[in-house]
Amino acid sequence: MTYYQKRRLYRRIYRIGLIIFCLVLALGAFIKPELPVVEVAELPPAQATSAADSTTDESGLADAIANAHPTCSLTTLRYLSDVVKPRTLFCAQVEVWALYIDGEMHLAVENEAIANRIIEHLTTYQGTATEVIDVALEQTVEFQKTNIPVDQFKGYADFDSVVQYVENGGIEVVTYTIVKGDTLSGIAFDNDSTVERLIADNPYLKDKKYLTIGDQLVINRPEPLVTQYVTVIESRTEVIEPSEEYVDDNALYVGEQKLVAQGTPGEKYLVEQVVYRNGRAVDRTVRSEEILLEATSDVYQRGVKPLPPQLAQSTLIRPVTAYRVTSRFGPRKHLGYHYGIDLKMPIGTPVHAAEAGTVKTAAYRGGYGNLVVISHGNGLETYYAHNSKLLVSAGQYVEKGQDISLSGNSGRSTGPHLHFEIKLNGVSVNPEKYLPF
Ligand SMILES: [Zn+2]
Repeated sequence: MTYYQKRRLYRRIYRIGLIIFCLVLALGAFIKPELPVVEVAELPPAQATSAADSTTDESGLADAIANAHPTCSLTTLRYLSDVVKPRTLFCAQVEVWALYIDGEMHLAVENEAIANRIIEHLTTYQGTATEVIDVALEQTVEFQKTNIPVDQFKGYADFDSVVQYVENGGIEVVTYTIVKGDTLSGIAFDNDSTVERLIADNPYLKDKKYLTIGDQLVINRPEPLVTQYVTVIESRTEVIEPSEEYVDDNALYVGEQKLVAQGTPGEKYLVEQVVYRNGRAVDRTVRSEEILLEATSDVYQRGVKPLPPQLAQSTLIRPVTAYRVTSRFGPRKHLGYHYGIDLKMPIGTPVHAAEAGTVKTAAYRGGYGNLVVISHGNGLETYYAHNSKLLVSAGQYVEKGQDISLSGNSGRSTGPHLHFEIKLNGVSVNPEKYLPF
């Protein structure tokens, strides 16, 4: 072979090689669609032939496929037959690590390492307590290696999107009743929502300029799909409130009392076992308690002298118009003597002066909370306690019926109410002697 013959031969070989290489590339691209297909299972030839040949309608074909390959769907099959080889039956599946919550499949991740990281994240305590007793999930959460048909495959989820999905994928529907002082943005903030979402959930809000107290809102609050319970040991110091002591005093009328010694709060060190449900404490059990500083009691002198005769009929009016009586004047079962009448109403209800007079007190006063006292002359005083806001100040003259405060829940109070008390010459008397309630 001459040099030129050799060169021609090599060139020919090179060209043929190039053509074959290109053909292989093209064919590879053609028969390998861009799918993460890890398993292409050909149906047994006999079944494939019978399915393809003996069937003229789609439902017959679907039945044949279902019998031959239960995990393969008609869509998968048709999709692949278009791409690979018309009228040949294939079943294409993708291998995934699927997230199951209580047996229901949710998302798919690509490999076991990501699956393990997610499980570890969900079962790890994220707080600051030093001693963790237990971390448990309410639901059965697991990843399983499984094959799914390509047409059902929506792509692999990454670590962050799975965690985000598990922590916010559920919806808890709650009803909220609007109270005084509420704003849409405040309600949204408290419920992990937004103003836009609140309006979407409650379309009637769109046309409203103001919120109406007492209206109910529907709130769709994002909720974790998986409930994590964490039990930890925590320690903290807690204030001990002063208790009350009473000393009978013959010089004071029944109903009258005087604080003679102000107690001081104490402090104790608590070790508690706390159970958190998705980060919120739901149970606390005291394991040990150590008093660091004892509290001292508030000491009151309590009147035992019989009451003087009642004043003549007065012209007092009720301090509020809409209320429910929750406690009347007189002895109570466990709470000691009650020196007034308790009227339950929503926080923020305007309170009126029962009679014209001069404001003696408009300030925070211990158990009374935000208190207004009005002197009406002739030894008659009215008390309005537990207010949320005071609208008058000491020394001010008020008309009968004038707004003096907004009701509340301040001081020693177990719920929103107005404590209304009438004193005659320093002695508390039954308000129902003056006014029907
Ligand atoms: Zn009361």
